[in-house]
Amino acid sequence: MNSSEKHIVNITHLDLLVKRTRYQFLVVLSFFIALSLFSGEVCYCFSLKGDSAGYEKLRYEMVEKQIAARGIKDGNVLRAMRNVPRHLFVSERRRGSAYGDFPLPIGYGQTISQPFIVALMTELLEPGKDHIALEVGTGSGYQAAVLSEIVKEVYTIEIIPPLGRAAEKRLKELAYKNVTVKVGDGYYGWEEYGPFDCIVVTAASDHIPPPLIKQLKIGGKMAIPVGRPFLVQHLMLVERSEHGDIQTRSISPVTFVPFRREWK
Ligand code: SAH
Repeated sequence: MNSSEKHIVNITHLDLLVKRTRYQFLVVLSFFIALSLFSGEVCYCFSLKGDSAGYEKLRYEMVEKQIAARGIKDGNVLRAMRNVPRHLFVSERRRGSAYGDFPLPIGYGQTISQPFIVALMTELLEPGKDHIALEVGTGSGYQAAVLSEIVKEVYTIEIIPPLGRAAEKRLKELAYKNVTVKVGDGYYGWEEYGPFDCIVVTAASDHIPPPLIKQLKIGGKMAIPVGRPFLVQHLMLVERSEHGDIQTRSISPVTFVPFRREWK
């Protein structure tokens, strides 16, 4: 082999080496791409189940520091608040604040209530596992999810169609099978499924809607904020006694979005 032949052989060798390296690089690259896609998928599944990035820890802390520490004792309520992934009921950019001690915007000028208020209203209802509950003001669907962890069935009504539809989709994706959402004016309740053991109204009305009182079972309880929009409102507990008469009790001052009769 003369020197120029040697040179050609060396170049061919080099060429092969470069090709092989390129090939190995592509294999490794596709492996990493596949891995990142797969781990994204896994993270997504976990986030749907509710617990990536330490959200569960934040939720347990929320229950301990904001709820149990302020006197909520009902074991079912505490359990439900520990279970429901609140961060999945707010927009992605608000997830980091989902376990804070405050309400959060959910769009259309509405809010998901402060966790403590959700717990307080739920406890006031004394919900039981055979109970049928009505919620007026679905919003994000969070309060409905908390109730659904305790009672048999939850019926919930939202007046703003896109909010109602989004909540319905979210609750379905999170497998809350015992919650039924309807878009409409909750002032009239939901006669078809009443009377109810528990009724919770999550928007402030200047009076207690008579149809809701009518749809309260004997021994049933309703929690409702009463008062004028943007002024002091009072969280009221309404009870229909064994004899059928109605008793109301003021629990605490609160601030809720207004109860409305239409949405445009
Ligand atoms: N329970 C909700 C909080 C929602 S804020 C949650 O957990 O996220 C109150 C909601 O009540 C708003 O979405 C508002 O649109 C709704 N609302 C107000 N008036 C209503 C009415 N008459 N019927 C049904 N929903 C009503």
